[in-house]
Amino acid sequence: MPTPTDPSPAGATTVSEATTPVIEFRDVEKCFGSNVVLKDLNFTVERGERVTLIGPSGSGKTTILRLVMTLEELTDGYIFIDGEPLTHEQRAGRRVPVSKKRQKQLRTRIGMVFQQFNLFPNMTVLENIIEAPIHVLGRPKAEAIAKAHDLLEQVGLSDKADAHPTSLSGGQQQRVAIARALAMDPEILLLDEVTSALDPEVVGEVLNILRRVAETTNVTMLIVTHEMGFARDVSHKVMMFDGGHVVESGPPEKIFTDPDHERTQAFLGAVL
Ligand code: ADP
Repeated sequence: MPTPTDPSPAGATTVSEATTPVIEFRDVEKCFGSNVVLKDLNFTVERGERVTLIGPSGSGKTTILRLVMTLEELTDGYIFIDGEPLTHEQRAGRRVPVSKKRQKQLRTRIGMVFQQFNLFPNMTVLENIIEAPIHVLGRPKAEAIAKAHDLLEQVGLSDKADAHPTSLSGGQQQRVAIARALAMDPEILLLDEVTSALDPEVVGEVLNILRRVAETTNVTMLIVTHEMGFARDVSHKVMMFDGGHVVESGPPEKIFTDPDHERTQAFLGAVL
């Protein structure tokens, strides 16, 4: 029986040392009609870890983020956030849904930035950012406003608090969307191809803001991106997907320079 002072075998952790993953997918299956997009998918993301999902279009990467955000329903299996079931749990040997109330509480720990910004067009920039902190977290309005101004400064948009999203460029809208996600102090930040809809000349400014978020916070990130340079800079781990499965995963320096699997080699050969 190992004790905490025993030297552990390589890669093993004693239970007392083990931490609960921030995200766990366990035997996840997702189908759209007869299209099985994810099958028997298992992976974990640790606290503070930044994980990038790469792989061909249609391999299920965005679906994974949308499942974490509960924007899609799981067909089978379980997702855990900090060890707590997000959508279903095992009770008396049966798979039963968790309460909507519990799910909503867990969701407040998760922020998402979308490809298409998804700002509320009828609200100002400031109103977009303070909406959820006030109405979901119950923060006092003055506190939410002060934080929103801080965040707008961080994303270089201090002068746009009273603007409407439609008057902003795509890059500016995406910076507001990042500020809006961060206003919730999320434990988990999901980034879904956040630069794909942007003009090439503003991609860099958005990625630099995200690099700074990665450097200055401990937020756990699950990232889908075609920006391989960004993925390489910010990720602790890269997971290559194909056909709904993880083909291989590892640190970016390994995956990008010396991938084991020929499907990863072919994919990177096409995009790099
Ligand atoms: P990726 O992000 O890797 O490009 P997606 O997760 O967007 O892949 O899509 C995976 C598969 O799921 C694709 O075949 C896509 O057509 C399908 N799909 C995604 N969303 C829906 C939906 N809402 N309804 C039907 N099929 C969908």
